[in-house]
Amino acid sequence: MPASEDGFELREALKPGFGGTVIDRWHPGYDHARGVWNALVDRRPALIARCSSLADVVDAVRVAAAHRPPVSIRAGGHQIAGSAVCDDGLVIDLSAMRGVDVDPVRRTARVQAGVTVGQLDRETQAFGLLVPGGDVTDTGVAGLSLGGGIGMLARAYGLTCDHLRSIEIVTADGQVRTAGPDEHADLLWAARGCGRGLGVVTSLEFDLAALGPMVSVVEVYYPWDRAEFVLQGWRDAVEAVPDTVTPMAVLRSMPRYPQAPVESHDTPVVGVGAVYAGPPAEAQAALAPLRQLDTPVLDVSGVVRYEQSASPPAGVMRAFMKSHFLDELTDDAIRTLLDQQARWTGTGAELVIRTLGGAVRHIPQDQSAFPHRAARFNLNVNAMWRDAGLDDVILTWCRSSWTALRPHANGGVYLNFSGLADEAEIVREAVYGPSAPRLDAIRTAHDPEGLFAWAARQP
Ligand SMILES: Cc1cc2nc3c(=O)[nH]c(=O)nc-3n(C[C@H](O)[C@H](O)[C@H](O)COP(=O)(O)OP(=O)(O)OC[C@H]3O[C@@H](n4cnc5c(N)ncnc54)[C@H](O)[C@@H]3O)c2cc1C
Repeated sequence: MPASEDGFELREALKPGFGGTVIDRWHPGYDHARGVWNALVDRRPALIARCSSLADVVDAVRVAAAHRPPVSIRAGGHQIAGSAVCDDGLVIDLSAMRGVDVDPVRRTARVQAGVTVGQLDRETQAFGLLVPGGDVTDTGVAGLSLGGGIGMLARAYGLTCDHLRSIEIVTADGQVRTAGPDEHADLLWAARGCGRGLGVVTSLEFDLAALGPMVSVVEVYYPWDRAEFVLQGWRDAVEAVPDTVTPMAVLRSMPRYPQAPVESHDTPVVGVGAVYAGPPAEAQAALAPLRQLDTPVLDVSGVVRYEQSASPPAGVMRAFMKSHFLDELTDDAIRTLLDQQARWTGTGAELVIRTLGGAVRHIPQDQSAFPHRAARFNLNVNAMWRDAGLDDVILTWCRSSWTALRPHANGGVYLNFSGLADEAEIVREAVYGPSAPRLDAIRTAHDPEGLFAWAARQP
């Protein structure tokens, strides 16, 4: 058995001075610690180094360099592909590093790598500030940013990675580096949207936008028998509304809201959502087109605290995602979306259309490695379920929906919405696209021996 498989040598090398928790296969917390958000992922690392500080991360990287196990890096543990955890290797687990330091005068925040979207929103909203994040509070800020970060404020403020000012990173040689516009700018460029295989990012510094604490949101559900008409109208509304609105449409089953007619619960609907990036008093006219696409089944739009505009944690789920980027949403694409959703008659599986453009498109391509700025839409095939008996049928639906939608897409795939090992083979071309050659060169310069090669290959 190689040294890395039983973890003994790694554990003994790491123990002296390590301030965090060393979790081997005999540790009572091992099964919990190796679990990620997606319950389909079942990997058995040799050792988990749960770091409590920057010095712990340096120790873990130096031990890895001496023993050369596969190395994975865990922040929020949300990546559907489970790339936070490797088999028979070392997991550098950052989930306990949860510091957030907001500077309201400079409008910046320094965020340790284990912080979640919900925690960051809470700390920044204390000053009416925010980093545009994802839609669910327990997603890790680190993984979200390193893969891009497409959220409900994207057209107004850009991607999460567009707000990255600098990162602190431990590279393969065990050195701590700060990467910003004036030093190691290549690492910052790569971290903005293609942040795999560079090293271990221990903290991230963000520019903050001013919004909140109250925001206007749209949440409307339209009947399935009007779905084609509603989606065509939604596409027109995307053009009509200002960049302070980032419309989303979801083909899904009706949530069991008490306000919704009981007979509508769990039946197919078209959901339309948005968050207004401005004062609620000015939101009505901008949001109206999204609320008037047809006669809704339910309209629960209103004014909420910004922190409540993201969904709370749903607990560990079985989950799968795949995605496409689209340059346009044609009538044919809409019909294919409807056909595919109609093939799924249960709950838990959905097709989500997110809007790009606005600030995402205006940021020059050479400022970040994120390669999909020209796309107009991201299309996310998304499923979350609890019953293991549904695994085969749901995975088949997801994969066949993605394949059916492929002719309508531009060939790009989003790193953060990568399911299981599906994207591993296309990760270089479809995910990194034109950024791939420069990214390869940066990885080689900072990790010539390939210490983080396992992480670099993962979706
Ligand atoms: C319920 C749910 C909702 C989501 N909503 C959105 C959304 O609205 N918008 C969106 O864009 N994405 C969304 N995502 C996708 C999410 O952004 C990605 O899964 C992201 O990778 C999660 O980051 P994490 O830190 O939680 O994940 P992890 O699984 O911990 O990390 C993912 C990978 O990123 C790398 N990584 C993470 N941290 C570091 C670090 N500090 N240093 C170096 N490498 C690191 C590692 O390779 C790791 O394997 C969602 C995912 C889920 C499950």
